[in-house]
Amino acid sequence: MELMRKWVQVITGFLINAYWAFPFTRTIYQGPLKVICAPGLNCYSCPASTSYCAIGALQQLMAGVRPALENGQYFLGFYVLGSIGVLGAFFGRLICGWACPFGFVQELIHKIPSPKFGLPRPLKYVKYFMLVFFVFLLPLLVVDQFGGGHPWFCKYVCPAGTAEAGIPMLLMQPSLRTTIGWLFYNKLIIMTVFLVWAVFVSRPFCRTTCPLGAFYSLFAKARLVKLRLDEARCTKCGACHRVCPMGVKFSEEPDDVECISCMACMNEACKENAIYLEVGGVAFGRPPQPRVPAKGEAP
Ligand code: SF4
Ligand code: SF4
Repeated sequence: MELMRKWVQVITGFLINAYWAFPFTRTIYQGPLKVICAPGLNCYSCPASTSYCAIGALQQLMAGVRPALENGQYFLGFYVLGSIGVLGAFFGRLICGWACPFGFVQELIHKIPSPKFGLPRPLKYVKYFMLVFFVFLLPLLVVDQFGGGHPWFCKYVCPAGTAEAGIPMLLMQPSLRTTIGWLFYNKLIIMTVFLVWAVFVSRPFCRTTCPLGAFYSLFAKARLVKLRLDEARCTKCGACHRVCPMGVKFSEEPDDVECISCMACMNEACKENAIYLEVGGVAFGRPPQPRVPAKGEAP
């Protein structure tokens, strides 16, 4: 299953970044596929990107609300909200585990041999601040002299944007190098911090800062595809806690919003077959069975 997940990560990353003509054209892809929402965090301005970024689109949506209202245009971005809403309702943070290129990069970096550390749980709440303030409130409320807002998360924070768009564009278009200012260096430092952090801590950006992960986590309980715990079989051995890349204690909190459905607990850790996949309320693959008590153990 882990091999399959890796392949899905690779194939998804390739499909949403399939414009490999960019080294020759030296431009970003602007074709018809760009109306498709990338499920994970994948910068719109990545030269190879064939899709748009949900977080970037949400910020643009909020940034355009005030100018639109002032011009008497009353609209809501149902397309963007609907796209990530449907993805969230079906898969929730499974997308983080299976289809996010920046999550995949962090996983690869975390394989570098080094001491590994956990993460203080309160840090996970930072990403909700990022979602509410940087993606919704700041683009909506802070406007420039022309009355328009800005994509604050993209502009000041997003390390995926720096890695996928900022650096490649500077390599492709040397003339842009003269425009580099503190904004770019600030983002370069943020990106470097997260990439180095990922050597020691599993998926630090996903766990602390990603607004898309925060959005998908709102669907943790209601999503159609999720892992379930068969309480009758669980011995509370804690093996599932030890393999979890997101610091989830699955046997204690199966609906934890941090779970990215990587399925390591189900496939690698649980010897009791107490964790199973549920799709739309139907147990998938293995209907849960009551655990057979060991010899001498009370039923
Ligand atoms: S590994 Fe399985 S049996 Fe052990 S605590 Fe987790 S769910 Fe329960
Ligand atoms: S709880 Fe299980 S499926 Fe969820 S992230 Fe942790 S190991 Fe992966």
